[in-house]
Amino acid sequence: MQKKRIVLTFPPSLVGQPITYHLVKDYDLMLNILRATVTPNEQGRLVVELSGQRKQLDDGIAYLKALGVEVQSLAQDIKWHEEKCTHCTACIPACPTHALSVDRTTMEVSFSKEQCIACELCISVCPYRALEVLI
Ligand code: SF4
Ligand code: SF4
Repeated sequence: MQKKRIVLTFPPSLVGQPITYHLVKDYDLMLNILRATVTPNEQGRLVVELSGQRKQLDDGIAYLKALGVEVQSLAQDIKWHEEKCTHCTACIPACPTHALSVDRTTMEVSFSKEQCIACELCISVCPYRALEVLI
């Protein structure tokens, strides 16, 4: 069993199609949706974790690409450099999983690696480069 975290971008013509259903049914994959958004021009974006046998993962991703879905791999890991962090809290609203959180009493920011899905949304908002993508 292998796992792969990917970002799927659906063109407007594919939004609403039962694509995730086919991934599960036809390719025997388990699919965990970590984040879902639809942008104003109706482009869909899903951050998902796919689990399954290697060949089925490859075939499922090939199926998505053939349909016109853009498939991007997520970064492997995010590192929080505590010594660079000024606890400015700019990253807190950007983090969808609360991997970055702030203690409202002490106003100290902390990072939970277990909750991080490596979506990279925090990277560009940190003014002190305290967050780094590890490829
Ligand atoms: S990459 Fe950043 S924004 Fe995304 S889950 Fe991890 S800490 Fe939160
Ligand atoms: S944006 Fe950067 S410096 Fe500010 S709290 Fe988050 S990690 Fe720390």
